[in-house]
Amino acid sequence: MDGPDFDLVIAGAGGGLVAALRAAELGASVLVIDADEHFQRGNNTSMCTAMIPAAGTRWQQAAGVQDSPQRFLADIDRKTGGTADERVARALAESSAALVTWLADAQELDLELVTDFRYPGHSADRCHTIAGRHGSRLLRHLVDRVRAHPRIELIAPMSLRAVHTTDGRVSGVEIATPDGHAEQLATRAVLLATNGFGADSELVREWLPEIAGAHYHGGQYSRGDALRIGRDLGADTGYLDAYQGHAALSSRSQTLIGWATVVHGGVIVDSTGRRFAPETTGYSEFAAILAARPGGAGWIVIDEHIEQLCSVFDDFRAVADSGSLIRAATARGLAELIGVQPEALEDELAAARRAAEGLEPDRQGRTDDRHPLSEPYIAIAITPALFHTQGGLVVDEHARVLAAGSPIPGLYASGGAAIGISGHGAGGYLAGNGLITALGLAFLAAEHVASAVPA
Ligand SMILES: Cc1cc2nc3c(=O)[nH]c(=O)nc-3n(C[C@H](O)[C@H](O)[C@H](O)COP(=O)(O)OP(=O)(O)OC[C@H]3O[C@@H](n4cnc5c(N)ncnc54)[C@H](O)[C@@H]3O)c2cc1C
Repeated sequence: MDGPDFDLVIAGAGGGLVAALRAAELGASVLVIDADEHFQRGNNTSMCTAMIPAAGTRWQQAAGVQDSPQRFLADIDRKTGGTADERVARALAESSAALVTWLADAQELDLELVTDFRYPGHSADRCHTIAGRHGSRLLRHLVDRVRAHPRIELIAPMSLRAVHTTDGRVSGVEIATPDGHAEQLATRAVLLATNGFGADSELVREWLPEIAGAHYHGGQYSRGDALRIGRDLGADTGYLDAYQGHAALSSRSQTLIGWATVVHGGVIVDSTGRRFAPETTGYSEFAAILAARPGGAGWIVIDEHIEQLCSVFDDFRAVADSGSLIRAATARGLAELIGVQPEALEDELAAARRAAEGLEPDRQGRTDDRHPLSEPYIAIAITPALFHTQGGLVVDEHARVLAAGSPIPGLYASGGAAIGISGHGAGGYLAGNGLITALGLAFLAAEHVASAVPA
């Protein structure tokens, strides 16, 4: 009998590339397809800040950081109010150190631990990243490795249209070029790594009404294909109301300014010049809070010290280069330049400074230890955005897609195609939950697929 064309077909060349590399390393033959000819500059992995959370790593050990998968899990639990899928969260937390170690050692990715600031909700420094802190560099590295691997074929543009099963097991796929030329291939396993449904405005309106009016800042091919393909096979879905929002997208350059601005001591004011919520709750939930303010937009206010600290981010430098940083010697001068009420901004910045110096409680209840802003000030216009959806196909600890609670043999999902570990809504999103599910579930899927590949 003829064998399959490939041991594993992966739809989506974002986090899915980790599965390709891991499965091929373990002996599998792999086909990766991507619907987007320009995926390297267009998918979410290429757009991201490349923060990969991992607990109990050698980088943490070298920096004297105390951490463990249990502690990571406890942070996920706290951020989601105990609503995240426990099985998936545990599997990802427990394999996170192995994932970053493999990325560094087997894939020669030059990783470093972020110790200069910490995202809200993490109780330890556990974000691992690369120089420039940009996903395009991470993705380029993975693509180069994939292209060089003799057991992996990568084709783009090519879309996954359907997954076929025989006696309930995955047996093949239908793939198609953009002009509609379709082809059937035989395979034992399929990984759906096609991200979520952020680009489908109808689905977003249905499931995420609170952020549906905001700008969508994510891959244009995140059209919910995994949901459709999975549902055709009877797959379970979950957490479809979960998403990652962001309140720090530059409205001028449409580039991420980054929450490090806030963590280092920046504050956010609305179009009246007033602060309105504790910025350190998290950037994801802050998007809907900002969207509900007058005019649905606002300003991040920082100073030159914070500007310098944030310049390690490619994205922040791009925002600065776009001319989006508005500077003024005083709060009043800044207010006039950005068109907010001068008395309000002057009063807010003076109060925020006293609070940061420990002289009075913060008006919005912020308790973080932060740098007090000082003149001259810098304001950057921000607009709330939806970055990606966090719900999808229900998977188990091996990233196997479930139908009525049992695995569909040979079908896997990762990243935005699968359920995340962010609970419901926007508030459970902990920085790194996007990549840990994209890279981590891909890694786990590959190991499971490879364990069934005949030697
Ligand atoms: C600005 C920004 C910053 C971020 N920063 C971080 C961060 O620092 N840390 C973090 O954890 N998360 C971050 N995220 C979230 C993170 O980028 C995503 O969660 C993650 O990259 C999703 O990976 P993925 O593999 O699921 O999807 P993607 O990387 O979007 O890849 C999916 C691919 O599937 C392809 N595709 C879609 N449909 C089909 C089909 N039918 N057939 C074939 N191919 C198809 C698409 O073209 C795409 O290339 C950020 C997001 C944004 C927008």
